[in-house]
Amino acid sequence: MTVSLDDLPLRDDLRGKKPYGAPQAPLPVALNVNENTHPVPEDVADDILGEVARALSEVNRYPDREFTALREAFADYLGHGLTAENVWAANGSNEVLQHVLQAFAGPGRTAFGFDPTYSMYPLLSRGTGASWRTGRRNRDFTVSADSAASQVADAQPDVVFLCAPNNPTGTPMSLDVISAVYDAAPGIVVVDEAYWEFAPHEERSALTLLPDRPRLVVSRTMSKAFAFAGARVGYLAADPALVDALRLVRLPYHLSALTQAAALGALRHAPAMLAMVDEIVAQRDRMSATLEALGYEPHESWTNFVLFGGVDDPGATWRGLYDRGVLIRDVGIPGHLRATAGTEEETTAFLDALASLDSRS
Ligand SMILES: *Cc1c(COP(=O)(O)O)cnc(C)c1O
Repeated sequence: MTVSLDDLPLRDDLRGKKPYGAPQAPLPVALNVNENTHPVPEDVADDILGEVARALSEVNRYPDREFTALREAFADYLGHGLTAENVWAANGSNEVLQHVLQAFAGPGRTAFGFDPTYSMYPLLSRGTGASWRTGRRNRDFTVSADSAASQVADAQPDVVFLCAPNNPTGTPMSLDVISAVYDAAPGIVVVDEAYWEFAPHEERSALTLLPDRPRLVVSRTMSKAFAFAGARVGYLAADPALVDALRLVRLPYHLSALTQAAALGALRHAPAMLAMVDEIVAQRDRMSATLEALGYEPHESWTNFVLFGGVDDPGATWRGLYDRGVLIRDVGIPGHLRATAGTEEETTAFLDALASLDSRS
């Protein structure tokens, strides 16, 4: 007998829902999930291996439940006067966000974001039993401080997600929008800075807004700029009281000793791990310029990817690229596709393959 989901006593609120499903295909050029396509430098990898080997010699014991050394290292990396008490970490920023939702959303509560935004927010929210509500952006995917504040005031959500810069659009969000939303929101405001390292270096992070804003959370990840997606390490900065709330919902010892060791080893080499960021930004800007020259409409991006419009048949273009060994992402925005900036060679392969398709005509 073949059992389907409908035969199981699944929670009613999960019936008919789809899991996260970015296609994973072994193509030569994979520019679909905004990874850093540059490998970890060899000497850094050796050092990380040394840390992991040391951790392995004590792996019969549970790890430091408070991952204090790692929280100190993240606080040092972030700066802005933050200390270990301000920092939390988990297996990817997805788990960090899940902890926030478990503590502050859940059944009978609502989480909110401005559509289109990161597809995991609704999935994580519903996973905790919370409902998901969306607000509107302008046609260029920006949102003004006034509009954002009034939409949040209307919705009265328990948790607001501000993806800054936004995935899947790349759109920056200025600090005045964030502070206006904070003032209008009754609950927690999460600023997801997963792509912050790709923003112009002179810009100010939402970390600068943390003092005197105890409901504000700034989340980051090692998955993108740090070229560490496979290790699954994300983190956040917030008021120590908010961090304390997350201890109520995390699993004991949720960060394995091996993960803590690997992350510490990588953080010790932050400059080397981040050395490729400027190169990726250069490829992103070349990608935008070439897309425009090809007649597409790239949107402004402060990330390591570009969303571009003017695609007559996104499914056909996606397939045409796939057949040429290039994997990008159809994020479901009509007339648009999204591509991650890769190495110079990968970016060229994508742009050449796209130019060879005549889906524009
Ligand atoms: C990629 C991404 C993350 C990172 O997820 P991890 O779980 O840390 O790998 C978080 N937020 C956004 C908006 C992202 O695009």
